[in-house]
Amino acid sequence: MSRQSLMLAIPLVIVLGVFVGLVTAQAIRADDSNPNASAATTTTTLRPVSTSTIPTTFLKPVAATPEANTLNSGLRLPDWQCELQPLNDMSAESQRTFVESGLQCLERIWLPALRDANIVGTVPPVKLVLVENDQPACNNHKTASPTEVAFYCANTVYWPVADESRKDLGAKDWDLYLFLLMHEYGHHVQELTGLSRVADHRQQDAGVDSPTGLLLSRRVELQAQCLAGMAMAAAEQGGALSARKVGHIIDDESNMVEEEVHGSSASNYRWTQAGYRDRATTACNTWTAAPDEVN
Ligand SMILES: [Zn+2]
Repeated sequence: MSRQSLMLAIPLVIVLGVFVGLVTAQAIRADDSNPNASAATTTTTLRPVSTSTIPTTFLKPVAATPEANTLNSGLRLPDWQCELQPLNDMSAESQRTFVESGLQCLERIWLPALRDANIVGTVPPVKLVLVENDQPACNNHKTASPTEVAFYCANTVYWPVADESRKDLGAKDWDLYLFLLMHEYGHHVQELTGLSRVADHRQQDAGVDSPTGLLLSRRVELQAQCLAGMAMAAAEQGGALSARKVGHIIDDESNMVEEEVHGSSASNYRWTQAGYRDRATTACNTWTAAPDEVN
């Protein structure tokens, strides 16, 4: 999704194609759903948090449609009880420790919820890759570039450390980066529940750039926003985010770049609020929402 405001600079993308989330240089969430988009060139620095090769164990068959996916059925998050490492400056090392700790904290609230619902058993830790130059991702389906704000693809969060928005924003706006990470982790949850795969097939069938394909993209993106809203509420309740920081994030949601892949500012605001307020995935069911609620 793309947004603009502080994020004027941070876009992120998610892609469903292979579950890729990518961000561009315009907003904080710019997910790009076009699996045919760029192909990569140069290489980069790979610093995975986890090198685990343990496969994910699914305990339930994945529903054939996003509407029927278990994710829509009332998962709730516990309070955030986890130490987030501070973002001291925008050096690559400080971003790495901050993002790494953020991902670990998100796993500590989401994985128990997914296990309690018998959706997954064993889950390998999500991987983090710091992007310093353009690099191929997801078997060349997507390219993570330094101008993207963030990018999720196949159990991995790609984090461009030198994106322009990062220079503009600076470390003081770490809350916006945390929310971006919460959104990307939302895509991870969509992947763990099998929802991304089913939604992606449907989008490919419709044509990713067709009106139906773009509507499907917005349902995916806005659901990820709502899941991020849930995590934001958990973080506030656990003391990791102050009420002022939450207000800052929500204000930012109201200033996103309007675009068809991630949805309008009004829609982003609405779904973020829904997750934040109800803190249950039933509030995040964008799949049965009327088209004008996901525009
Ligand atoms: Zn996204």
